[in-house]
Amino acid sequence: MTVTETTDLEALANRAGLELEDATASEILAWTHERFGPAWCVTSSMEDAVVAHLASRVAPGVDVVFLDTGYHFPETIGTRDAVAAVYDVNVITVHPDLTVLEQDAEYGAALHDRDPDACCAMRKVAPLERSLTNYRAWATGLRRDDSPSRANTPVVSWDARRRKVKVAPIARWTQDDVDAYVAEYGVLTNPLLMDGYASIGCAPCTRRVAPGEDARAGRWAGNGKTECGIHT
Ligand code: SF4
Repeated sequence: MTVTETTDLEALANRAGLELEDATASEILAWTHERFGPAWCVTSSMEDAVVAHLASRVAPGVDVVFLDTGYHFPETIGTRDAVAAVYDVNVITVHPDLTVLEQDAEYGAALHDRDPDACCAMRKVAPLERSLTNYRAWATGLRRDDSPSRANTPVVSWDARRRKVKVAPIARWTQDDVDAYVAEYGVLTNPLLMDGYASIGCAPCTRRVAPGEDARAGRWAGNGKTECGIHT
């Protein structure tokens, strides 16, 4: 059943967050597809294709939104292209209003070093919000073990800022669960994961992590920033 304009999405999301807490990732995505039909998407950073793969199995042809900030590693763009070629999904690449050169001209070079919040707001958050206007729900690869700030991530919740249902089908998964799923299905992953990177974002704001270091320690290292603003 497709959710209509008049349905109380917030109540639906909050109820589903409780009822689906123990459901599998596939069951959570099946619930999403059943409720929202074509009006939901997956967002992917192209660190891996786990959620895109899971979604393609319950909703062939599902939209997978990728935010191309203009600062991605070539390996990330290559992973996006491979996902589009291999899986039964519809990859949608979303761009910021300004190219990197236009942003440099207007705000000065390397804004990411001087004001990463402003850079993320223009290159990630605004494009995401523009793209989500087409949907009622969005699914992400957030996991509770990503970081302390994500430890209480519900499997389904109400994204009050965007007035959308937010779905985190692998919220309860551990890195071992991800690794096992990738191995079982041969899921596409970003080659940088084999090169010392544990969490992959824009090249200027991502570094390798040392053995034993927190996976997200390589993101915006040294400036205290932990989230780009998409999930806050
Ligand atoms: S991660 Fe860095 S380069 Fe990418 S949008 Fe944010 S501040 Fe800019």
